[in-house]
Amino acid sequence: MAVQPHILTITESTEGGVTEHAYVIDCPGVTDRCRSNLLCEAPDCTAEDAEDDTVVAHGVQHIWVDDANGWYVPTDQCHLAGHDSLPEAAEALKLRPGMYPVDYFFGDGYDLELSVRVEVAA
Ligand SMILES: [Zn+2]
Ligand SMILES: [Zn+2]
Repeated sequence: MAVQPHILTITESTEGGVTEHAYVIDCPGVTDRCRSNLLCEAPDCTAEDAEDDTVVAHGVQHIWVDDANGWYVPTDQCHLAGHDSLPEAAEALKLRPGMYPVDYFFGDGYDLELSVRVEVAA
C-alpha cells in the first residue's frame, strides 16, 4: 500500500496591495519519518547515564542529540507540519494557491526541503 503523502495547502490573501501566502501541511498520520522529537523534560529522567545513542528510560525510547546536548523523546506531533522553515521551503516551490501532495527532506538543523510528489499512474 502506498504511503499517503502530506498535503501542502497554499492560500493567498491580499491586504493593502501586498499579496501574502499562507502554507499549511496536513499530515496523513504521524510516522517515524515525520515524527517530532522533543527534549525529554521528565524530572526523573534516567537516561543520563546511558552510553548508547538510543536508550529506553522510564518506558520511553530516548535518542541522544549532540547538537542539543540532550536526550530527545518521540512525540505524536508531525515535525513537518510544525516546521519553522515551512514557509521558506514552500515558497521555494513557487506554486500557485492550491493543494499539493508533497515529499519532504529534513536537512541539518532547521533545513527543510519540499518537493511536489508526481503521481504515478498504477
Ligand atoms: Zn527521559
Ligand atoms: Zn507528518
